[in-house]
Amino acid sequence: MKDDTKLIHEGRTTYDHVGAVNTPVYHASTILFPTMEKYLSRSTDPSVKVRYGLRGTPTTFSLEDALTALEGGFGTVLSPSGLQAITMAIMSYVETGDHILVTDSTYSPCRAFCDNVLAKLGIETEYYDPLIGADIKDLLRTNTKIVWTESPGSQTFEVQDIPAIAAAAHEVGAIVMIDNTWSAGYYFKALEHGVDVSVHASTKYHGGHSDVMMGAIICNEHTYDRIKTISGSFGNHAGPDDVYLTLRGLRSMGTRMDRQYKNGLEIARWIAEQPAVTRVMHPGLETDPGHAIWKRDFTGASSLFGFVVEETNQKKVGAFLDGMEFFGMGSSWGGFESLLIPCFPDANRTVTDWNPCGQTLRIHIGLEDPSDLIADLEKGLKRMTN
Ligand SMILES: *Cc1c(COP(=O)(O)O)cnc(C)c1O
Repeated sequence: MKDDTKLIHEGRTTYDHVGAVNTPVYHASTILFPTMEKYLSRSTDPSVKVRYGLRGTPTTFSLEDALTALEGGFGTVLSPSGLQAITMAIMSYVETGDHILVTDSTYSPCRAFCDNVLAKLGIETEYYDPLIGADIKDLLRTNTKIVWTESPGSQTFEVQDIPAIAAAAHEVGAIVMIDNTWSAGYYFKALEHGVDVSVHASTKYHGGHSDVMMGAIICNEHTYDRIKTISGSFGNHAGPDDVYLTLRGLRSMGTRMDRQYKNGLEIARWIAEQPAVTRVMHPGLETDPGHAIWKRDFTGASSLFGFVVEETNQKKVGAFLDGMEFFGMGSSWGGFESLLIPCFPDANRTVTDWNPCGQTLRIHIGLEDPSDLIADLEKGLKRMTN
């Protein structure tokens, strides 16, 4: 089955629910059993699928199954946010005295978790250059439990050589995890490229409508039981209304992303030609340093990318951003609407430098007509350079 068919058909259990196309929203904590015998065998009887709300309902199973199918995983664990999915995945594999390797380009709240929480537990985080590739072997230790990757990196969009990193990590028995939010698991099949655990902010493209928080941990066979058990021990649970909204969004993700890929690349090419712009970070551009690896490993690009304007005067950059008609300013991305924000990646780096000689901006292209977005950007750049 191809991805676009999976997105439509996987995780549907229509005839278990009066023929409804979508799995309904089950609100449940207590699940009742008719006899003492049935109650006592609820954990061992394979015909019992639902035991307690915390452990999932048909609503949650539907989203889990659809995401597992999308990435070719063994099983999926949901979380109430992308960040929670990150921390659950990491916590499942570390204990005091361990060492983990985390890309310097990681989503900054992941870094904050490592520095604030793991450090207190006596777990050492070492950051590495996202472009390290096979040389990661020099940083691996006998107590290295996880190699954390994110490709392309948050805000700076470096494409990592995931197969090379995974091969080296597996030599010493480390688990390879990726924050795969950017590709949504649609354009990068992490598990087929050596990754053990693919973590998503489903808040972004999966939900796709800027109205839901959700996280997902898609595991291979080797990692699923452990992550499910530890996540359950933390009482981790995603609420049914949010699960439903995420699955509703996921059904149309293929169409949305294909359009956003095309429009994003068109706009990236236009931005790259503007005199006020010194650099565009979009791996789909032939001039991008990550283009070759992206082309080898990915089947497309999402519509989130970066660019740098030479202007650093904050008043002038503000004149650009404040007057945008179609681009909103706010955190998150992956919805149907366009966004444009300033960012300061250097504040979140410790072993590599980000000195682009200008102001870094992050742009998300939504489903608007690209000609309207280009006109809006053109006016904005004029406000900045005048
Ligand atoms: C937004 C984001 C997250 C966190 O997702 P939330 O659902 O907002 O917690 C994780 N990783 C990346 C790359 C993100 O952009």
